[in-house]
Amino acid sequence: MNLFDVYPLIDVTPVKALGAKLWDENGAEYLDLYGGHAVISVGHSHPHFNQRIKDQLDQIAFYSNSVQIPIQKQLATKLGELSGYTDFNLFLCNSGAEANENALKLASFVTGKSGFISFSGAFHGRTSGAVALTDNPKIIAPSNQRTDVHILNFNELIGVENLLRKGNIAGIIIEGIQGVGGIQIPNPEFLIKLSELCKKYDAKLILDEVQSGYGRTGKFFAHQWVTGLVPDMITMAKGMGNGYPVGGVLIHPDIKASFGLLGTTFGGNHLACAAGLAVLEILEKEKLQEQALKSGEYLLKELETINGVTDVRGKGLMIGIDLEKEAAPIRSELVNKYKIFTGSSSSKHTIRLLPPLNIEIIQLSSFLDSLKKILS
Ligand code: PMP
Repeated sequence: MNLFDVYPLIDVTPVKALGAKLWDENGAEYLDLYGGHAVISVGHSHPHFNQRIKDQLDQIAFYSNSVQIPIQKQLATKLGELSGYTDFNLFLCNSGAEANENALKLASFVTGKSGFISFSGAFHGRTSGAVALTDNPKIIAPSNQRTDVHILNFNELIGVENLLRKGNIAGIIIEGIQGVGGIQIPNPEFLIKLSELCKKYDAKLILDEVQSGYGRTGKFFAHQWVTGLVPDMITMAKGMGNGYPVGGVLIHPDIKASFGLLGTTFGGNHLACAAGLAVLEILEKEKLQEQALKSGEYLLKELETINGVTDVRGKGLMIGIDLEKEAAPIRSELVNKYKIFTGSSSSKHTIRLLPPLNIEIIQLSSFLDSLKKILS
């Protein structure tokens, strides 16, 4: 049997990993500036992460949500503490798309409306609701096409209030920082205005922090760079489990739902919570949010000076590099010649950097040297 729809973008077979390093089956060493698509937050094979999962596996790996699962509460408490959202409620699921799907459903339930707004360049997942709000017509099947979904221009307010005024908009969904779209940062005033408009017209503001969350940008969530912004829901996944599938929705305490409205068999299982908790413990103990911010400042400053780089954007270790030339051949050379993984984006000239948050400065500087050599 063959695998369905395989798309290896990097023709390497990693069989071992540690920190920000990967090794292929021949023992060749690679540097990971992609983090498995922003998933590896605390580094590959972190000893505390591995140990916590092993210990949990020896205790109890899974039982359905029909029983008490104290480690869920522990995870929620720690997440509240580190994110500052102590009064929010946490719904646990398994992926970013599932988190968004549940947030959309909840927004629709509590407002009694069905329409949604998202923005150009957005990526929210491949399930039916999330894909309809994703700006990529090629992956939207006819059954996911919706007339009540509106993809408006990113960072522009044009059309937003008009749509809300018409009355059927349940919510607006936007990434804390756009990832797949090429690391685009929403303007603070834009986000604040969206929040105000949502309140005015009884719609819910959903911040998709699946890629930008978990300390990566130097704040726990990227939207926390905007003072005073309090979303109605915040979705997360990727870095939350450092490779173990965990997703979640943080839900404002004003949003009440009846029991059983949201649910999923595997969401919040013991192993997933152990992984999630280990990530938070490492983030806190090793001050990785602060490290990400410093490493990011270093990268941004250095990248700006490189010939052939036309723009650099980002916060912390979520960085977009625009190049004069197309990015694909440059990324290939980075992998094949210099043994460095980077990320692509939906814009042809952009390279994305999403390394583990504890990547070392010396590793970042070796990437900079390699990029300089290729571009010169
Ligand atoms: N939201 C954002 C911002 C993402 O980047 C992604 C994945 N690239 C998703 C949602 C979907 O997450 P998942 O693949 O875990 O379903």
